[in-house]
Amino acid sequence: VELLYYAPPFPDKYIATAMRRTRDTKSIRGIQESLDSKKAWIEKLVRLAKRSKHYGVFEHITYWFNVEQVSRVLTHEIIRHRLASYAQLSGRITNIENGYVVPPLDYISDPKKQENLRQFFESKLKGQFAYYKWLTEHGVRTEDARYLLPNGQWTCIMITINARSLMHLIRVRDSSEALWEIRELASYARSGQTYCSYLVRVNSRGHIIFRLIP
Ligand SMILES: Cc1cc2nc3c(=O)[nH]c(=O)nc-3n(C[C@H](O)[C@H](O)[C@H](O)COP(=O)(O)OP(=O)(O)OC[C@H]3O[C@@H](n4cnc5c(N)ncnc54)[C@H](O)[C@@H]3O)c2cc1C
Repeated sequence: VELLYYAPPFPDKYIATAMRRTRDTKSIRGIQESLDSKKAWIEKLVRLAKRSKHYGVFEHITYWFNVEQVSRVLTHEIIRHRLASYAQLSGRITNIENGYVVPPLDYISDPKKQENLRQFFESKLKGQFAYYKWLTEHGVRTEDARYLLPNGQWTCIMITINARSLMHLIRVRDSSEALWEIRELASYARSGQTYCSYLVRVNSRGHIIFRLIP
């Protein structure tokens, strides 16, 4: 998963501008100029937006994520977040390549047993791909042959999401309740240093993390 772009380029100032737009009769240019080099004021306005639950102003910031080599288990869960836009590789049209995610099984404490189980996963996943290939070679359309493919198959998805919705996604998915794979994605999104600086904070281990909407 990688953050491809975000816009506009100075999210903090943009959020502050949106806040002032609701209170100031000046033109938008005038509002922007009044915020030029006013770091402390910008921060205060962003804090105020959160404290007063003025969440709409966060919707003006957009992030584009590219997510590759993740399982369909993950994408099935992520697309439940309705307030985002997605573009996912089509299994109907494309020939799905032999790639899959094997769960880490790190809760299995015996390393030997863990390794054996992971190998079991791999052999079964590979087997399903072999059947898929066999079917397509015998004239079965990819849209039908894919019914045989496992949930662990690799897929890719592009996500466009605004800051408000992203914070919500991180809040519910970067949690011990959530699936390990989606948690990894959410914690990547949380750790981005390129986000709006007043939405992030540094934790005790020096990692930059999102400051969540309470
Ligand atoms: C730990 C965990 C376990 C889960 N287990 C299951 C499961 O077993 N089965 C299952 O089906 N799902 C499961 N889910 C998915 C979950 O129910 C949500 O569908 C998913 O997390 C998306 O959350 P959301 O609806 O808040 O997000 P979004 O769709 O992005 O919506 C964001 C917010 O907008 C508002 N909103 C959006 N649409 C509506 C609407 N139609 N009506 C009212 N308010 C709306 C809500 O405030 C919502 O929180 C699980 C999620 C988690 C985190």
